[in-house]
Amino acid sequence: MKKIINTIIVTLTLAPLFLTGCGPAPQSGDDELKVLASTSFLADIAQNVAGDRLTVDSLLPIGADPHAYQAAPADVSKIAESDVLILNGLEYEHFIEPLLENAGGERLVIEAASGLTPTKLEESTEGEGRGNEAGDPHMWLDANRVTRYVENIRDGLIKADPAGEEIYRANAAAYIEQLIELDMWIWQQVQTIPAERRLLVTNHEALGYFAEHYGFTIVESILPSFSSEAGASAQEIAAAIEAIKSSGAPAIFLGEAENADLAEQIAAETGVQVVDSLHLESLTDGEPAPTYIAMMKHNVTQIVGALK
Ligand SMILES: [Zn+2]
Repeated sequence: MKKIINTIIVTLTLAPLFLTGCGPAPQSGDDELKVLASTSFLADIAQNVAGDRLTVDSLLPIGADPHAYQAAPADVSKIAESDVLILNGLEYEHFIEPLLENAGGERLVIEAASGLTPTKLEESTEGEGRGNEAGDPHMWLDANRVTRYVENIRDGLIKADPAGEEIYRANAAAYIEQLIELDMWIWQQVQTIPAERRLLVTNHEALGYFAEHYGFTIVESILPSFSSEAGASAQEIAAAIEAIKSSGAPAIFLGEAENADLAEQIAAETGVQVVDSLHLESLTDGEPAPTYIAMMKHNVTQIVGALK
């Protein structure tokens, strides 16, 4: 996919629209540059950079799990109409390549995570496509790394709309300030958890960068099949219960699209608190996670509350 995206970027930077920048400013109506982000939290981050100048839409609806996403026919036309497409990158958007091919045309593709060094995911015998060759895509769960997302989005928007450069630079700088505050706030919250209890047990390898940056230990991913993608066998559940008991972890954390019955069963048999209200891959419609920053604060509040 990387090769295709690079080709598109090269094509676009050679296109006159992106060289001259002397056309009418895309302020409103049909002239406005159409900016599409793959997911809701990326759309929110990008909207903070775009400010009032552009509207950023999300390809995936709120609540959709990108890992399990099946593209809808309408997605092709959304992409076809877009002038700028913002992706996380690192194969998070595993569904995007056929959509880009079917949409045709040209657009500027911004990979938000570009330039950040990914962690390799361990090969999982369970498969399910969760591990990919590009490495762990979940970089947005480390607020510090999102600074780079903002810079990449800012630079892409400037390329697509040079007349808006000053606005994008000012908005990006203001939002980066907020991200730095968020990062410090998370750090302070984590310090309230006793060091030996900073343990994360999850069903999905989403929290690696979060753990690394904020000082948690990931207890080996003990619930490999405990996700929306695959059911867990009785054997796997028994093994998971045993692993949770022996880990000493005070709580286990599940993402938003999980099996609540199974979570309750495990909670009942282990006496360990199950937190199944983290929002890791999508914003929510209204509270508790209407923005990226609110999403992070919500997750940290849940994690700290369960561990301290
Ligand atoms: Zn994920």
